[in-house]
Amino acid sequence: MPQITRYYLVVGDVADNGAVIMTGARSLYHGQNDAQDGSSVFCPVCKSAGVLKCVGPRISNKIDGVQKALSGDICLCKCPRPPVFIATRSTYCMTVDTDADWCVHLGDSSEIAALRAGIPFDADHSQMFDQYFQLHDENTGEIFKNRFYKIRCSSGSISGYTDASGFTKKVTANSAEEVKIEIFGEGI
Ligand SMILES: [Zn+2]
Repeated sequence: MPQITRYYLVVGDVADNGAVIMTGARSLYHGQNDAQDGSSVFCPVCKSAGVLKCVGPRISNKIDGVQKALSGDICLCKCPRPPVFIATRSTYCMTVDTDADWCVHLGDSSEIAALRAGIPFDADHSQMFDQYFQLHDENTGEIFKNRFYKIRCSSGSISGYTDASGFTKKVTANSAEEVKIEIFGEGI
């Protein structure tokens, strides 16, 4: 009786590459909307709008006819490797007996391959840990457009101006690492 515990995802939860769930179902958990199959995702790595895809074993739990999303579900975006979502709410989960009759298995590998075949992958984004950063004011949320920045990471430092959407240049790394970002005042 193989058992697996999966956690419900909510809007604002993030994948292992930083992709963020933007939209969800009507239903709420502690004030945050449940994420669901088809939720919109913003992926900062390929800088594209992705879609949440429910995969793997679960107890069917639908809102308005659509499955609620769980940890381990994936993002369909332009990234060559689909980002995998991680839950922030450790108290909101289901434990599934994967052999049980009532266990449903969503998104088999051929379905995922077919869905991903329609996505134009950008070779420029092939490195797993490439990252763009979108810079904004922590308090007001205001995007820092055309602002001078410096990013320091293990491979050195890069600097430049953010674009009109507040994005930095790509930071390439072979492993997940911490980076330090400095933002300078306007007009520099
Ligand atoms: Zn992506």
